Amino acid sequence: ESVYLNGEWLAPEAAKVSVFDRGFLFADGIYEVVPVYQGQPFLLEHHLARLERSLAALAIESAGQQFWLELIDDLLARNQSDNALVYIQVTRGAEAKRSHLPQGPLAPTIFASVSAMPVHWDVPAPAQATLLEDIRWLRCDIKSISLLGNIMLKQQAQACGALEPILHRDGLITEGASSNYFAVKNGELYTAPTDHLILPGITRMWVIELARELGIPVHEQAFAVTDLAQLDELFLTSSSREVQPIGQIDDIIIGQGGCGKVTEQLVHAFHASKRQLSAQ
Ligand code: PMP
Repeated sequence: ESVYLNGEWLAPEAAKVSVFDRGFLFADGIYEVVPVYQGQPFLLEHHLARLERSLAALAIESAGQQFWLELIDDLLARNQSDNALVYIQVTRGAEAKRSHLPQGPLAPTIFASVSAMPVHWDVPAPAQATLLEDIRWLRCDIKSISLLGNIMLKQQAQACGALEPILHRDGLITEGASSNYFAVKNGELYTAPTDHLILPGITRMWVIELARELGIPVHEQAFAVTDLAQLDELFLTSSSREVQPIGQIDDIIIGQGGCGKVTEQLVHAFHASKRQLSAQ
């Protein structure tokens, strides 16, 4: 197993960064996670486009498309990962002295690693979620390594036995702490629009694409908390969990509490696309 750090390939325990790295001091950096199936990165161009957008939002210079492509190729070759998650993190870099305002342009710190991911071909068992107030900042569209809000919310969800918190702001559902959501009502999908309040999930985008191919109407319109009890189905999406049905939010049973028909259709479509794209 070897990880990449600033031009070097190292054993994970040998990879070290300065305590003056702005990632360590200020969480001044961004990250990206790319799923890999049968050795092939899935929806890679979309993940790299989001990486570029996150870097641009923080005015951190990108190493460039070609660099990222070669980095991922090298990572997969060195780690022989069939089904995996590639992790890439870029911080603004290290400087001599702690100062909120970056002192001039720095050399970004680039770290990348791979971890094995079990690949699923079945319909996941419905999970339980809990409704929590979205306490995060107003630039959730940036895939920032500053994840304190997300972590606190995850811990709170875990304490009440839920897999994931479902977050609400001003009466509307935004997303999960590390996932997007889709609500199903009368055979149609509802998901929050990609504004500054959510991370534009690549899995979310792909599920919208699959739904359109299946002729399922999709509304990029946030679902109201007050309508939760009337939902037919609910599922979460993320690169690591793909399509995850939710059977219950706190005391509210969603539909029959199992995996609904529309969700099941999309789980199968997702598996099929995974098989297809990675066979190319
Ligand atoms: N929202 C948040 C807050 C996330 O952290 C993630 C990913 N971990 C997602 C949504 C899902 O994004 P993706 O489908 O690109 O993994």
